[in-house]
Amino acid sequence: MSFPVWENMRSELDVYFQGLKAIRLQDEYLQMVRKRMGILVDVVWKYTLTRPGLEIVPTFADVCIMEPFRALILDSPPETEITKESIDNLMVQLPELSAGWNRSNVAMLLQLVPASASLSDPDPADQVLSPLDLATTFFRCAWCTDPITYPRVLKHSCLMSFHSSVGEDPDDHVPAACHSIGRGTLPWNYGREQVTYDEEAAESAKAIVTACGQDPETISASAMDQLDPRIECLRCVHPQRGRMVMRWRTAVRMFVALHLDSFE
Ligand SMILES: [Zn+2]
Ligand SMILES: [Zn+2]
Repeated sequence: MSFPVWENMRSELDVYFQGLKAIRLQDEYLQMVRKRMGILVDVVWKYTLTRPGLEIVPTFADVCIMEPFRALILDSPPETEITKESIDNLMVQLPELSAGWNRSNVAMLLQLVPASASLSDPDPADQVLSPLDLATTFFRCAWCTDPITYPRVLKHSCLMSFHSSVGEDPDDHVPAACHSIGRGTLPWNYGREQVTYDEEAAESAKAIVTACGQDPETISASAMDQLDPRIECLRCVHPQRGRMVMRWRTAVRMFVALHLDSFE
């Protein structure tokens, strides 16, 4: 065998063995992390059961990327034995970490809301303290067309699920670690690019709120829920099925799905 041929072959073999080594290391990492994530799932679930029903609690996937949990679960070397006690010892920090996580998600959502929808002069009597509470504030996820209100957006299932374009960075172990226990759960809005402000739903909601005699610039979604008006869609009267009457949130969804052309 001539020298150049051998050199060529050796570099191909090198690439091959390096590839094998990377696969083996990834397998070892996943085995290690699967065990740790399994403990974390139980511990976080027990924590969730102790929290008030309306609180938005991070899932195990959110917790595993919060320091100091991340250092213990994802980043500590395989020879470090992680037990339930080691994770339990960190749990005292979770209420505060969870509050910080909620604050940063809210700040991120507020940044998406256009200035025109922001409250220039919040009136405490209206109980609308944040643009997120307005009946006309809606978000959209990158994976479905449902108009989503706050705080539901923080629990929207598409934003916590695996999608092919999330986690394609081979150096990012988080998706594989979350996937290792087969729950299909990722940290909420992982990568931070899956939520936008839903302009179309906002326009629809404005029309609906106005039709109900309310002020779209001040009324909150919960105030609309309390008023609970029935909306009739005059464009959906059916010769056999009759008139189409619905609640306001359903009406927003219907307008976005069927009648956007009426705003053009
Ligand atoms: Zn969705
Ligand atoms: Zn209709």
